[in-house]
Amino acid sequence: MAVLSVILPSYNEQKNISNTAQVLAELFEREQIDYELIFVSDGSADGTYEAVCEEKKKNSRVKGMEFSRNFGKEASIFAGLSVAVGDACVVMDCDLQHPPETVPEMYRLWEQGYEVVEGIKSRRGKESLFHRSFAGLFYGIMSRLIKMDMKASSDFKLLDRKVVNVLLGLKERNTFFRALTFWAGFRSTTVEYEVQERQYGESKWSYSSLFSYAIQNATSFSTLPLQLVTLMGMVCIGFSLILAVQTLVKYFMGTAVEGFTTVILLILIVGGFIMLSLGIIGHYLARIYEEVKGRPKYIIKQMTDNIRGNME
Ligand code: UDP
Ligand code: MG
Repeated sequence: MAVLSVILPSYNEQKNISNTAQVLAELFEREQIDYELIFVSDGSADGTYEAVCEEKKKNSRVKGMEFSRNFGKEASIFAGLSVAVGDACVVMDCDLQHPPETVPEMYRLWEQGYEVVEGIKSRRGKESLFHRSFAGLFYGIMSRLIKMDMKASSDFKLLDRKVVNVLLGLKERNTFFRALTFWAGFRSTTVEYEVQERQYGESKWSYSSLFSYAIQNATSFSTLPLQLVTLMGMVCIGFSLILAVQTLVKYFMGTAVEGFTTVILLILIVGGFIMLSLGIIGHYLARIYEEVKGRPKYIIKQMTDNIRGNME
């Protein structure tokens, strides 16, 4: 019988673990799906990992691992995938904002032969207007940059073993899970779900972390900003040609003293473009630097003894 691995990135989610584990366990038993639940504690400062261990005593299908510090949700997702034994893997939030009832729906589609089942938000749940417009803008730009429609996408997806192996084989450190499944291809379909209210605790995203997440992901998937630098250069050259002609004409006509306004404007514009371009190049350079160092995506501090490859 096929096994379904559920990967649940958890950062300071002590209060959610027990409830989530029980809700999912009951659901899969009812649906007669063979499963494992992998909670990845992303360097939580509360007792998230202990809560997982407690749950594991009651149900041996609950597995857990803990990072040495906070490495981010992407890292937790990949760590979970790397130890999953399932023939299919589902990634979902452990605060039950991704409705559990959608998982069996995804599983049935997988049984019909789909290799990627994307969870699509039919409603974004409760969010501030600012958050919503920022997300809208970000996904609008992202969709255009990577030429895939990402507007309603999320990290809630089911992946076949084949797809999981492809993702695990990627050498890059800066991953963007949400878009990588589009990139990987395979036979895919979508399932709509409504974002639920968070069970316990608070969202881990601040506006600044969302902003850096947006920049990170946009540049990890596209080199368009780099090409923009070339474009800015061309615009500058175009302007400078026009001004060069004007300046020369004025010089030969003997009226060349005026024109400080032009000089000031030019310095400001060109200076601005140069700084911006250096910034963009610097950003990519930093990313290359990070990748070249080849550090691991995460460091595992401990894991429960029912995880494959546990060295304890
Ligand atoms: N998460 C994580 N590492 C982090 C931040 C978040 O593993 O550094 C997990 C978190 O525990 C949750 C999921 O990612 O299961 C989504 O986070 P959250 O609910 O805070 O985000 P939101 O639902 O508000 O987008
Ligand atoms: Mg959440």
